[in-house]
Amino acid sequence: ILPVLAVVGRPNVGKSTLVNRIIQRREAVVEDKPGVTRDRVSYPAEWTGRRFMLVDTGGWEVDVAGIESKVATQAEVAVSLADAVMFVLDAQVGATSTDERVVEMLRKSGKPVVLAANKVDGAAGEADAAYLWSLGLGEPFPVSGLHGRGTGDLLDAAMKVL
Ligand code: GDP
Ligand code: MG
Repeated sequence: ILPVLAVVGRPNVGKSTLVNRIIQRREAVVEDKPGVTRDRVSYPAEWTGRRFMLVDTGGWEVDVAGIESKVATQAEVAVSLADAVMFVLDAQVGATSTDERVVEMLRKSGKPVVLAANKVDGAAGEADAAYLWSLGLGEPFPVSGLHGRGTGDLLDAAMKVL
């Protein structure tokens, strides 16, 4: 049985884009708008010779009022089934109150977490991601799922805790 790495975060932060980058295919559905209902989907992945299962979480409904609780619920299920978690934020937006709720849940779960500050498409955004140290989840890895920037360092960190 392969270890499981769950990718969690708010809708639209780029989880599926990052998953596609890591599995080097385009199987995870990328949406320009948040809130498309979808189940958790697992993909076999490999990094530096280690095989693992990568779980993309979606499954949110278009319900603006309830979106926060749905994010938390989906994330909690995925986290409870995972050996480690990749928590994705949109570095262009920063940490929102929803992000902070997920952080709280992750802390309670006791699962190891790697922090992906996504949508850092160029060197200019890297310094901005550093403030995410304040979340208390350790080093924020600036990445661009879209271009592949930084994903090697992020995966190296994930393999250390998986
Ligand atoms: P998810 O809801 O978290 O799975 O997010 P998606 O992967 O569906 O992406 C949401 C939107 O963000 C899409 O329009 C993506 O093209 C865009 N996106 C994802 N990753 C990046 C990135 O690294 N840089 C930029 N600029 N846009 C991104
Ligand atoms: Mg998605």
